Amino acid sequence: MSARILSGNALRDQIYAELAPQVKALARAGVIPGLAALLAGDNPASRIYVRSKIAACEKLGLQSFEILPPATVTTEELLAMVNDLNRREDVDGVLVQMPLPPQVDAKRVLEAVDPAKDVDGFHPLNLGWLVAGRPRLVACTPAGVMEILKRNSIPVSGARAVVLGRSDIVGKPMALLLMHADATVTICHSKTRDLPQVTRQSDIVVAALGRPAMITPEFICPGATVIDVGINRITDPVLAESIFARHPARLESFRAKGSAVVGDVHPDVAEIAGAITPVPGGVGPMTIVMLMSNTVKAARMRRAPRVAAEV
Ligand code: NDP
Repeated sequence: MSARILSGNALRDQIYAELAPQVKALARAGVIPGLAALLAGDNPASRIYVRSKIAACEKLGLQSFEILPPATVTTEELLAMVNDLNRREDVDGVLVQMPLPPQVDAKRVLEAVDPAKDVDGFHPLNLGWLVAGRPRLVACTPAGVMEILKRNSIPVSGARAVVLGRSDIVGKPMALLLMHADATVTICHSKTRDLPQVTRQSDIVVAALGRPAMITPEFICPGATVIDVGINRITDPVLAESIFARHPARLESFRAKGSAVVGDVHPDVAEIAGAITPVPGGVGPMTIVMLMSNTVKAARMRRAPRVAAEV
């Protein structure tokens, strides 16, 4: 048996197509949603992430602003920049690209973002609204996972779901969203005993661990839906050979490039799962489109609540 592949790319395009008329309706009301990205320092991966978010804004006709303080920036300087963005009328979304330089108090900076402009959904107030079952701006990756489940008609209500990972940005909001969708949710982490025993009882497994290919077929009940949030770049040839032992094309590509991106789920799981998201091309593309969706939503909520009702 081979799993149904839940592509994020196709869904991303669908959601872009749904957002386009909302952006047009806002434009008619004189509102062009604006996203400001604060990128401190020169972390190459962060630069790539921010560039793809800016490109997404351009594709959808949103305004974007890049604020690029040096790696030596202080917490106080960043707080002043965030406050400035909070005050600007043309900025609907403020995203602080993580990680921040080590001297910066990241929590203070994230908590300084106006909750109404917190398009990453990281602010404790937005997390609190989610806990209360009245979500406003929800963290993009877990929101994207819910879209994948919904738009592929994967039954969630009554299902046993396990979330592997309890981070504030993925694991916790993911578990809350699944619970509010009436799944019976278990949250696992590094202290969980006998993880495979827990995961094997689950209809839906969401892996957000940051551990390359850790979730092997022994963890999965045949026919389960497996959502792989992990994005891990591997460069170790021995690891690549063990992960891709039965996937010669991927091994070949690893050898040609010297690296590969793998999820937290082993590629062999596709042979027993009922449905699975690929890496790359699964959850990743959904995260960015949900950021766009949050920016449009933030603009509507703050600047044009009436336009929302007309679309
Ligand atoms: P964190 O490192 O913040 O959290 C990892 C979680 O996994 C922790 O709760 C940790 O447990 C748990 N964990 C780690 N190792 C094990 C283990 N061996 N057994 C059980 N639990 C374990 O990561 P994030 O949540 O930020 O990200 C998770 C993954 O998702 C990463 O690969 C990241 O790159 C990816 N990601 C992908 C996105 C996308 O767009 N697709 C967006 C954001 C993240 P404990 O709490 O006990 O330490």
